[in-house]
Amino acid sequence: MTALPLLPDGRTTLGVMGGGQLGRMFVQAAQRLGYRTAVLDPDAASPAGTVAHTQVVGAYLDDDALAALAADCAAVTTEFENVPAPALRALAGRVRVAPAAAAVDICQDRVAEKRHFQRSGVPCAPYAVVETVADLARPEVQALLPGILKTARLGYDGKGQVTVATAADLPAAWAALQQARCVLEQRLPLHRELSVIVARGSDGQTVQLPLQQNLHRDGILAVTEVPAPDVPAATAQAAGQQARQLAASMDYVGVLCVEFFLLADGSLVANEMAPRPHNSGHYSLDACDQSQFDLQVRTLAGLPLVAPRLQAPAVMLNLLGDLWFAAGDTTPRTPDWAAVLALPGTHLHLYGKAEARRGRKMGHLTVTAADAATARAVALQAAERLGLPAF
Ligand code: ADP
Ligand code: MG
Repeated sequence: MTALPLLPDGRTTLGVMGGGQLGRMFVQAAQRLGYRTAVLDPDAASPAGTVAHTQVVGAYLDDDALAALAADCAAVTTEFENVPAPALRALAGRVRVAPAAAAVDICQDRVAEKRHFQRSGVPCAPYAVVETVADLARPEVQALLPGILKTARLGYDGKGQVTVATAADLPAAWAALQQARCVLEQRLPLHRELSVIVARGSDGQTVQLPLQQNLHRDGILAVTEVPAPDVPAATAQAAGQQARQLAASMDYVGVLCVEFFLLADGSLVANEMAPRPHNSGHYSLDACDQSQFDLQVRTLAGLPLVAPRLQAPAVMLNLLGDLWFAAGDTTPRTPDWAAVLALPGTHLHLYGKAEARRGRKMGHLTVTAADAATARAVALQAAERLGLPAF
């Protein structure tokens, strides 16, 4: 395998497993630095595949597709947390891969993830593993109620989880999740939701983006604000330190996002990790001197990591497919982007998805301003013009 750093020389190709919007923004960042890019995705019209230099259309575990991607690339990363770790393992014999399959394995399984939190000395929600009917009756399981039952694998955007009020509700909740291997978590009194994005190089050097404060609606990220308006500096520092610790203890290489809960009593609890850039880091494209995708390119290519700087306070609004549908209407329309772009400091990102569907992430809007109060005021105006709720 080629020695690091992989310099952009007009031929060097960086690849990404997965063709969604995160892959698209990775490709765009790599291209800006002068790399060629390649995407593997089953869909020939994927958001990333359509902007990359080359795309391999195939299943993530298809060996011919993996061989074709490896043959084209000097290094490969992933953009989608459910790209199977075995696919990364198969690639790793042929080409540089970051993050490594072993780290992705941990982040893809809530049980392994929680054990990693515990091993790393990072507090997480009290939980128990549910694998059998007998587990539902265990006193330590029932003691966690009211709680949230989450499938160990393949959950995202609030999918694959059910809230459980009492022990009597447990069997139906588990049945609703097809009796998959699950964790039951105690339902915590969330004061705020936060996230931290770190980037760690193969030499162990680690940098981070500022703490993000996130608002979810129906389990899907809706709003991110940076700097996090309601978080004491010591808490922000602790979250950053814990995220770095989690990355270091996996010997992680790449961009890692750690989601946290801030509880009413001020304590910080790690929720989950994503072994890739994260929706809550999209503001960094417009508000930081290096975005989370620039950091992903640097970690993959072995380029130097320099601490990113927040250049302006930012508010990001996620743009879901719901915006394409007027109340009661089933025919999509184009939202009035002109009305939003008439506001100062707005940065519109659309992902090139052909079909709008309710709940589908179609794009995001970042508002930057000279001060946080203005960014928030303009973002509220933008939300109103789009028909999004206030926050
Ligand atoms: P996903 O993979 O879908 O993002 P999460 O585990 O992050 O799954 O849960 C989605 C959202 O559900 C969280 O952002 C939070 O709002 C809420 N949530 C999850 N776990 C808990 C918990 N233990 N207590 C309270 N709220 C929770
Ligand atoms: Mg989450």
